[in-house]
Order: sequence, then structure tokens, then C-alpha cells
Amino acid sequence: MLVLRYYRELLPLPTVINNLLSKTKYTRKENMRTHNKKSQSEITPTDALVYLKEGNVRFINNLRANRNLLNQVNETSDGQFPFAVILSCIDSRTSAELIFDQGLGDIFSVRVAGNIVNEDILGSMEYACKVAGSKLVVVLGHSKCGAVTSACQHAEMGNVTGLLRKIQPAVQQVEAEVGIIDTEEKVQRVANINVDIALAEIRAKSEILSEMETEGTIKMIGGMYDIETGLVTFN
Ligand SMILES: [Zn+2]
Repeated sequence: MLVLRYYRELLPLPTVINNLLSKTKYTRKENMRTHNKKSQSEITPTDALVYLKEGNVRFINNLRANRNLLNQVNETSDGQFPFAVILSCIDSRTSAELIFDQGLGDIFSVRVAGNIVNEDILGSMEYACKVAGSKLVVVLGHSKCGAVTSACQHAEMGNVTGLLRKIQPAVQQVEAEVGIIDTEEKVQRVANINVDIALAEIRAKSEILSEMETEGTIKMIGGMYDIETGLVTFN
């Protein structure tokens, strides 16, 4: 053991061994299994967040867990017990199951351009937590979001106009701070605020979810996905 530590401190381990060590740390069996009612009930909101954080570490290190998805089809055929509900953008680069390295039956994925909240989305989240037992609500924005950028440009087109209107509170807040939103940094600030506003809206408009949060049954958190690195930063 001492010898191993000596070598680990002095000599960089070959990448393959390093990868194996990280794989062991971030793919613990209890995090990988297909959940059932009992295992889901034992997950705390904090555990659920750890599962997502560890999954994202696996994703950015290309250490995907070895799941047999076809087996999971069978294992989830009698019911689903997802531990989290994630509201993210429709952007093709931000699939929640992929970026958090999760399997079938692990998360409820709610997707809409600009990860905005409306009544139907609130209803979906209430179902996920109150009826189906999920422990964590994540609002996940992402960098270089087309919907947020279009909202900053006050674009109008068909039904897109109404959708982008829901991002306007964040746009107006940043416009009040810096004037015209004409840089990537300013657009990113809108994306960050848009996540905060969505979370505030969930708390204000869903009595069910805000009560569950207050009593500690669930946790609600915002996050930002960097489409250049694959990394998710939680608030
Ligand atoms: Zn987007």
C-alpha cells in the first residue's frame, strides 16, 4: 500500500489505470442499478444530486457506465422509479440522459426551447415528484442557447414569438443592467438569470413542489451545461 502510494505520488499513473480508478469511484453499483420502489425511497434529495454530478464526471471523462439498456427495458417494464426530474432545452446537444450518464427509468426529462416553465411543465414536475417519487428538480440551462439568443434579439416568428416572450423577464433584467445585449457574455448572463427565474416561478406557482421542498422531501436546483466542455455547473 505504502509502495503504491509512493509511486502514485511520484510517478503519474498510466492513463488507463487512472481511468480505472475514476471509474471505480464514479460508477459505484448502488448508483448504477435500475431503481425500484424501495431503492428510490431510500435516495435522499442530496443523493440524487450526487448521482447526477457523478454521472456528469463520467460523461466528461468518457467513462460511461456499462448499462445493458435492453435488460433495463425488462427491469422497468412493471413501473418506473426515476430519482430526478430535469427541465432542459430542446437543443440537440443537451440530452439529460447522456450528459448525466443515466439509464432507462432514471430521470424524467422535460424539454422545451429555452427551458422555460409553463402550467403543463409544472404539472409534469408535480407528477414526477408527488406521484412518482422523484427527489430532485433540476432546471438546466446551457451555453450558446439559440432560444435565449433569439430572445435577446427580440426575434419574432409564428409560435416562437410566444415562447420567447417567456424568456423576456431575464432579457429585460440584463438590458436594465447593461443596455443592448450584444456579446456572448451578456447572452450567457440572460441564460443564467433565465434559470433562476424558472426556479422562482416553480416555487411561486407550484404549491405542491414548494411544500415538498420546504419539508425536505425534494430539492430544487439550477444548473448550467457548457456545450464546449460537457461540464454541468450547479448553482
Ligand atoms: Zn437552448
